[in-house]
Amino acid sequence: MTTQRSNDELQQTRPIAFWLQSTRAVGRVVEIGALYVQMNRKKFIAIASLLLIAVIWFGVVDRSWFVYECPDCGYVKDVVQYRVFEIPVHETVYEHPSVTQRVGIDLGAPCQHGRIDFWHKHRVWGLCICADPCINGIYRLGGDDSWYTDDVSSKIAALSQNDPLVKAEYSKRVLREHRYKFVKTVLEKAGVK
Ligand SMILES: [Zn+2]
Ligand SMILES: [Zn+2]
Repeated sequence: MTTQRSNDELQQTRPIAFWLQSTRAVGRVVEIGALYVQMNRKKFIAIASLLLIAVIWFGVVDRSWFVYECPDCGYVKDVVQYRVFEIPVHETVYEHPSVTQRVGIDLGAPCQHGRIDFWHKHRVWGLCICADPCINGIYRLGGDDSWYTDDVSSKIAALSQNDPLVKAEYSKRVLREHRYKFVKTVLEKAGVK
């Protein structure tokens, strides 16, 4: 009787215990699952944030190199800018005066660079990737002008003093009409070459 009873009890309590156990197990699985999802969500947000920051960084910050060229006197200027939203926040200028320009200055007829133009040579996106544009190659015929000393400058200035018409002629012939042979003529007249 006793055994039978206990068996009955056991049979009655078994499904309950199983149900309770199962529920607990399911609860545990759900709990771990939720934790896993939460962890993954955090991971996902972290990765998404990093990607977003990278996209913003690459899209917003760049280092750009512009080349300015004067078609009248051959003066060239390299401008390197660090930009945010294409607005320069830091700029470095490298000037490359030409002999034509320097003779004009020493004569007292400096080129006004009125038709100076520029082009975009390099754009380094996010300060890492150079593209669009990335133009390589020789763009500036930098001749050796070490012979153009202060002595040469004063000789040309002296010529301008002695022959005031040279100045106006230089402006007209060289800077406006691009007859660059006259540069050599001026240097010869000044007794340079
Ligand atoms: Zn110029
Ligand atoms: Zn480049």
